[in-house]
Amino acid sequence: MLESNKDAHVADRITHVNSSSVGNWCWARPPRGRAQNELRELNNIISSVSLTDHPDSWKCTLDASGCFTSKSLAQLINNLILGVHASNLSIPRNKFTPQKVHILARRVIQKKISVRVELDKRGIDLDTTLCPLCELYIETTDHAIVLCPKTAFIWKFVLKWWNQNNTSISSIDDAFIINQNFTCNNFGSSTWQATKWIVSYTIWKHRNLKVFSKKEWSPASIISEIQAQSFSWISKRCRKKKQIDWHQWMVNPSSYVEGPQQRGFVLLTLLSLDRHCFSSSLRLEFLKFYFPHTDKWSS
Ligand SMILES: [Zn+2]
Repeated sequence: MLESNKDAHVADRITHVNSSSVGNWCWARPPRGRAQNELRELNNIISSVSLTDHPDSWKCTLDASGCFTSKSLAQLINNLILGVHASNLSIPRNKFTPQKVHILARRVIQKKISVRVELDKRGIDLDTTLCPLCELYIETTDHAIVLCPKTAFIWKFVLKWWNQNNTSISSIDDAFIINQNFTCNNFGSSTWQATKWIVSYTIWKHRNLKVFSKKEWSPASIISEIQAQSFSWISKRCRKKKQIDWHQWMVNPSSYVEGPQQRGFVLLTLLSLDRHCFSSSLRLEFLKFYFPHTDKWSS
């Protein structure tokens, strides 16, 4: 308001002196009171400014290109509201799961699923932020997928089913990052990871069915669906030589996917056992269990 020439350019008012910039002001009248403080702050800011020969322009610092994009603004708003740098969190695809399972996994990692606490943060008016399954705790992403007593029961079963008694699923990271216990081969790690993603997908699906369609939460049918669906998706995506047997998948999927090294170890152990301690029929049962696709075993 105090500028004497309303058509002045920025370059007219900033001069470069001894490697720093200073104001070259031309006021209609000397600044007084609060304006003096503001001028001091302005001089501090422009001291580090270096001008180029280009015409005056605006630059958006949200995007590396310097141009404004609605995506970068949406990202900034998300980060401010959710308090996480959502764009930095991602997970690679798992070839044994369909895309919709991977999308859900990514959204869970980024805390982007519409649990009640996240809807509340976005200003959506809800009757309650309590978990719709247990109605005891605030429904956060971690609670909905792994911590709720109703979902923890499902995870407990799945860990037992996969012979993972020393593993615990107590956070989203546990559910979505590859379990280091399965280091024997990629097939074992990938199928275990795929199963955990499918468990999360099925839990979230049934949570929504309960909220929006008033469908009963039935652990038995959810577990059956997880076993059938994971078998269907994973076996269809296996290469021919890695075919999965339904019975073995249901009984002990971890032993099935532990790979040739593990099965070779079992074979050597069985062959070295004393025949008097280990009956031939029992040996045969073990061999059939670990090598289900071989029909040439005989006592
Ligand atoms: Zn709950």
